[in-house]
Amino acid sequence: MLQFELSPQQKELQAKVREFSVKEILPAVWHYDEKDEIPLFLLQKAFNAGFMNTNIPIKYGGKGFGLIENVILTEEISAACPGIATSIFDNSLGMAPIILSDNEKLKEKYLSLITREFKRICFATSEPVMGSDVAGMRCLAEKKGDDYFLNGTKYWITNAGVSDYMTVFATIDPAKQHEGIGAFLVEKNWEGVSVGKPIPKLGQRCSNTAGLNFKNVRVPKENVIAEPGKGFILAMKTFSLTRPSIGAFAVGAARSAMEYAIDYAKKRRVFGTKISNFEAIQFKIAEMYQKVETSRLLVWKAAWEADNGIDPAISASIAKFYATEKAMEVVNDALQIFGGYGYTKMFPIEKLLRDIRLFSIYEGTSEVQRLIVSGYVLNNYKPAMPPLEDLPLIRGLDLNEPSAKNAIAWRCRMCGHIHYGDQPPDECPYCFFPKTAFKQVWPVG
Ligand SMILES: Cc1cc2nc3c(=O)[nH]c(=O)nc-3n(C[C@H](O)[C@H](O)[C@H](O)COP(=O)(O)OP(=O)(O)OC[C@H]3O[C@@H](n4cnc5c(N)ncnc54)[C@H](O)[C@@H]3O)c2cc1C
Repeated sequence: MLQFELSPQQKELQAKVREFSVKEILPAVWHYDEKDEIPLFLLQKAFNAGFMNTNIPIKYGGKGFGLIENVILTEEISAACPGIATSIFDNSLGMAPIILSDNEKLKEKYLSLITREFKRICFATSEPVMGSDVAGMRCLAEKKGDDYFLNGTKYWITNAGVSDYMTVFATIDPAKQHEGIGAFLVEKNWEGVSVGKPIPKLGQRCSNTAGLNFKNVRVPKENVIAEPGKGFILAMKTFSLTRPSIGAFAVGAARSAMEYAIDYAKKRRVFGTKISNFEAIQFKIAEMYQKVETSRLLVWKAAWEADNGIDPAISASIAKFYATEKAMEVVNDALQIFGGYGYTKMFPIEKLLRDIRLFSIYEGTSEVQRLIVSGYVLNNYKPAMPPLEDLPLIRGLDLNEPSAKNAIAWRCRMCGHIHYGDQPPDECPYCFFPKTAFKQVWPVG
């Protein structure tokens, strides 16, 4: 059964988060964007309202929301502020490796704690010299007895400056690449952990981004999320579950830009009429709506796959790079519709433009998503059509004629020439390839 309608519970969730986003988030964020500071109190409000940590299973005291509920929620929050969406959602990213792990004691301890108390947990794979090439990380995890000792630096870590816990990926030996990587749960107040100064950014200034440094940080064996050798796969599985949410951020931000642009276009008068009466503006608005709708469909498909036990990796990548790139187009068009006002800080578009530029960079750049999707399509995609050399591209023979069923057609695999006869020709009259280049294509085998 194909079903596009949200359930009554999902609609109720959407309405609640929308109200929270418009009433609580929207009015507060412009000030913090200017200050370049995370408004932690908004995260606390989201926590109190039950809009944070929604992916924690019921077993550990969480809401046990599926990915569909999560993308509904993140679209609404991002519609108000993409930076706050990043900050709130970062807990889900930080916790995903724990939820996916089989360390039951760790889950019971930290997931229950995060459910009960307003705690932040960040996710750290990237380093100063490594982002896309996760297997190339250098942060070291050295085993001594049962414990691991971490040494190295993580960079670009969302919420690093405000987190209590951190999910850190590190390697026992950089030369081992994928096979050396493990994942570890580190507490911020442990000896040897330092947090860098907040990194000044173009946008998403309501989210905190900083480096983390580890000097001989002892991680007890109980806090191993994934043993070395299992961390890389865990990071990739995490991204498959979190990339749809980045797509949802993009949908929310693009939707807001479109709504603001529609409102503006209906009011702004130029040459004696509203600009919404110009076909050039109408076409822009049609395309904006088309991009928002198609992006949401892809995001929901990826989320639906995850919730239904289907590996969402490819759909998640498609949703991420499609929705995030289309959002840039939508917000850019919205800015154009606003004319000069769009370029000012007195209207919301310039912030949206700055904020969403990040979407096609973090959690795997658009280029990385294209690598993932092309790798799948070139190697695993199952075509419905026959291979080119078997294509019955019959020309010069009317298949409606009874005599056609007795005809034999041979196709030159090189140039496509069709030859009729019991045998292929000794040589193709077009490309001069020999008889062996011909394959029988009719009657269809
Ligand atoms: C604000 C912000 C928040 C972030 N939050 C986090 C976080 O919480 N946790 C975390 O771990 N990381 C985080 N990141 C890091 C982010 O995931 C990386 O920046 C991203 O993965 C890209 O890595 P890079 O910056 O090192 O670029 P590089 O990997 O150096 O890539 C540079 C360019 O080369 C392209 N490229 C790389 N490889 C290929 C290839 N094979 N083919 C074609 N093109 C290629 C890339 O697409 C990119 O355009 C954050 C980054 C930012 C800016």
